[in-house]
Amino acid sequence: MSELLPRLWELQQLDTGLRQRAEWIANLDDGSKARARLAEAQAALDAARESLSQLEATYRRKELDLQSADAEREQKAKKAYGGTVGDAKELSALEKKIAELKRRSSTLEDELLALMDQIEAAREDVAKREALVTKLSNLAKQLAAEYTKDRARFEDEMEALRQQREAVLPQIDPAALREYEAMRAKLDGVAVAAVDGDLCTSCRNVVPSAMIARVKAGRELVKCQNCRRILYIGE
Ligand SMILES: [Zn+2]
Repeated sequence: MSELLPRLWELQQLDTGLRQRAEWIANLDDGSKARARLAEAQAALDAARESLSQLEATYRRKELDLQSADAEREQKAKKAYGGTVGDAKELSALEKKIAELKRRSSTLEDELLALMDQIEAAREDVAKREALVTKLSNLAKQLAAEYTKDRARFEDEMEALRQQREAVLPQIDPAALREYEAMRAKLDGVAVAAVDGDLCTSCRNVVPSAMIARVKAGRELVKCQNCRRILYIGE
């Protein structure tokens, strides 16, 4: 009997360690949230780039329109004032066309200026989103690396705990071991609870001094009156 309780306590600590690490692994940030944010930021960046490239295409088209309006105006002016047009009506029609082309050029110049402002703003937006994508991509990589490292460390620790567990098991009477496992299944993974002062560390209830004396005597397994766990008193 005298060795049973210390062995059960040892086993309990190993099992608690295994349980904790399984929980730690489950609670690790595997970087999936950061990856989701990265995907969103990347989609927004793609959209911003697309809208910039549309603005730039519109700008180039209007620039060509302006060049051709200017060229046509120049050509009409040469014709009108080159001394070859004798007909007043034809001249008047040419001047009307020249004035119309001039208005068209002026409108296009205004539009090009406004577009240039929009393009500037769109380029800033793209640059800002590129920076965000870079930042989130680095964060996702960093979190993934940390996750892999932390998970591997906990798994190594669990493997060591399992080996210690295998070494302890043969030292425990099979009937006591079955009871221990049954209690652990029923009592949230904790079958053996340490007593701290006069408190059961599992349920925080006071353990009467007569019971503490029985635990110390070590002739039997004594259970907490409140939570029914086997009580253990350390050195
Ligand atoms: Zn208790």
